[in-house]
Amino acid sequence: MSLLDTIKALSESYSQQTIDVRRHLHANPELSYQEHQTALYVAGQLRESGIEPTEGIAETGVMAEIKGRNPERKTIALRADMDALPIEEANDVEYKSRNPGVMHACGHDVHTSSLLSTAKILNQVKDHFEGTVRFLFQPGEEKNPGGASYMIRDGALENPRPSAIMGQHVFPLLQVGKIGFREGMYMASADEIYLKVIGKGGHGAAPDLCIDPIVIASHIIIALQQVISRNANPRQPTVLTFGNIVGLGATNIIPNEVNIAGTFRAMNEEWRESALVKIEKMAKGIAEGMGGKCEVIISRGYPYLENNPELTRRIRAAAEQYVGKENVVDLDISLGAEDFSYYSQIVPASFYRLGTRNEAKGISSYVHTPTFNIDEDALRIGPGLMAWMAIKELESEIS
Ligand SMILES: [Zn+2]
Ligand SMILES: [Zn+2]
Repeated sequence: MSLLDTIKALSESYSQQTIDVRRHLHANPELSYQEHQTALYVAGQLRESGIEPTEGIAETGVMAEIKGRNPERKTIALRADMDALPIEEANDVEYKSRNPGVMHACGHDVHTSSLLSTAKILNQVKDHFEGTVRFLFQPGEEKNPGGASYMIRDGALENPRPSAIMGQHVFPLLQVGKIGFREGMYMASADEIYLKVIGKGGHGAAPDLCIDPIVIASHIIIALQQVISRNANPRQPTVLTFGNIVGLGATNIIPNEVNIAGTFRAMNEEWRESALVKIEKMAKGIAEGMGGKCEVIISRGYPYLENNPELTRRIRAAAEQYVGKENVVDLDISLGAEDFSYYSQIVPASFYRLGTRNEAKGISSYVHTPTFNIDEDALRIGPGLMAWMAIKELESEIS
């Protein structure tokens, strides 16, 4: 049997186990940076398969390595994230979340179970490849500053530095069986913007005695859209959304302050820097011009994510061998953000998508919703596909 067929057969034979692991994780979700039980479980799974894990990296992260023949030749890294979201699950399934208000609504249970099976597969064929595969199970993808940044801080990309890293993410817009790739710019940077507009409250019938922060805030929100429509390069994707505004007055009460919160996204670091300066300047200037004040807090999120074109071409070719050319598709850019981007700033990286949609089974909800779910047939493909792409990448001449 060819190595490709062996890996396909292993992925298939592990598929029930992969699904069981996924369901266990799904039923026991933990929030970002609190993945204690998940980390223990992942480490236990690795140990049971004869793979010695390194625990405690990035607090609740787990790392492991599988060495093939000639392990020094090359090292590549594979990454999964383990955290869940503060969402109450609305799915009526036997493996429904047992932690109230916490749910694996972004598929990180899928990424973790898939990568565990990838490790089991590669461990079984380690006499058939040269080099080392490093496995990163990271915490906190969903929350600033991003578990990836802690993994890097704790040496996940050192001794030796991997020549490439790849990460897989579920994709509810892509039919199960399909795999999506994109070369170059793929996802956006994301920064949180908090504006506190301070005026002077009072009776709604006496605005002349007040400084109305509601009116000031309204002007600021409208004016800031101009940063996108008038200042941004129209050929560059960028977004500014304010999804939260709180001004606790009443029909006849002008409040003292209004709080606004939003997200700013971009795919160009220079523009990101200048836009954040403009946002702050404009918000403050408008408030001052109207007699009030505006405090601006910007919480820096993840940088943009760029998929290394050469690496992406190579792993895409491997995926075409694995699932057939007709099942590999091009992804469009996304203004979503991913902390995988931190790895991409250090080593050639590629982030690809695993199709998980199946409308015939009623599975179409987007990630971060209470009804998000996947077609678990994706877990027949995911582990073997990643194992095959890893082996092909180790075989490639580029180091
Ligand atoms: Zn997410
Ligand atoms: Zn995610």
